[in-house]
Amino acid sequence: MNKTIYNFSAGPAVLPQCVLGQAQEALVDWQGSGMSILSVSHRSDAFLEVVAKSKQDLTELLQLPDNYHILFLQGGATAQFSMVPMNLLAENQCAAYVNSGYWAQKAISEARRYAHVTEIDIAKFATLDADWFNDHSVDYIHCTPNETIEGLTLPAYPDMPDNIPLVGDFSSIILSEPIDVSKFGLIYAGAQKNLGPAGITLVIVRDDLIKPALAGTPAMYNYQNHIAKESLYNTPPTFAWYVVGLMLSWLKQQGGTVKIQQHNHEKAKLLYDYLDASSFYRNAIEPDYRSKMNVVFNLPSKALEKEFIEQSAQAGLLNLAGHRSIDGIRASLYNAMPISGVQTLVAFMQQFERNHVN
Ligand code: PMP
Repeated sequence: MNKTIYNFSAGPAVLPQCVLGQAQEALVDWQGSGMSILSVSHRSDAFLEVVAKSKQDLTELLQLPDNYHILFLQGGATAQFSMVPMNLLAENQCAAYVNSGYWAQKAISEARRYAHVTEIDIAKFATLDADWFNDHSVDYIHCTPNETIEGLTLPAYPDMPDNIPLVGDFSSIILSEPIDVSKFGLIYAGAQKNLGPAGITLVIVRDDLIKPALAGTPAMYNYQNHIAKESLYNTPPTFAWYVVGLMLSWLKQQGGTVKIQQHNHEKAKLLYDYLDASSFYRNAIEPDYRSKMNVVFNLPSKALEKEFIEQSAQAGLLNLAGHRSIDGIRASLYNAMPISGVQTLVAFMQQFERNHVN
């Protein structure tokens, strides 16, 4: 197959070709051992090196202060929707959640099983001030910095009082730009968008927040167990972890988060500039709230959107259909999407527009 393919999937998403090449080699013969990476014990010295290197690279890439633990867990970001309240709250405590969209709402409905939840409107979040915190007794605030489905991002965070941790679901934005981790008590992210394959989830949690989990919390959902065993409480997803390690090395080679952010901004700007100049395609999101990772847009009719998705797929531009809950078009431009992918997409959009506008 010689045609160049660009995969705009929202996740599992595109990975760099060189990472796939290394993973392919390791599947058959890892480090000349004659064994597949799939068959290596998670307790072996060789795998423990993968574990140590991945933590060291993440610490470097995120400039992580030393009072944070790094965990690699299973269950996706969805498991974190439960683990966060089960581990950060005591019985009958309160949490506030920024209701920014689909994934925030999933987090909210899960948190409601364990906590009193106050919802914060996305437009008010950045400007929460001391009065808001005085009026609301909350034990943490949860936000979703990038809503993958709606293509929305949070432009700013409030200054949090010292005693109220901010928790962030970074699933679709992790390592796509620098983050000031010290603003957060806890960050989590499924790997399958910017960081590697599906099946492994990153959790970064500040030391002082670790305390006994709610009564009845299963052992696998208890951060204390994972911290005590350094994410090897049970058999971890070794292959996914290995590929995350390759991806972290690749991100460092790209120049780290500052360089990656420049690259990601350039890609998103190319697409948004074209959308804004066109009267055929539409993205109605206010510029400050536009995601750089997931660019959503509509065409003049559902029928045209269907045709666009079919023809773009034939042209090698894959997975451009919006999420089934809102339809439309979505182009996910994660770290591994090259600028050539966006250039090809824009050229296709121009041609499609010309073919449909008299
Ligand atoms: N949060 C966000 C922002 C997401 O984009 C997703 C998945 N697309 C999830 C949570 C759920 O993640 P998972 O499938 O890893 O549980």
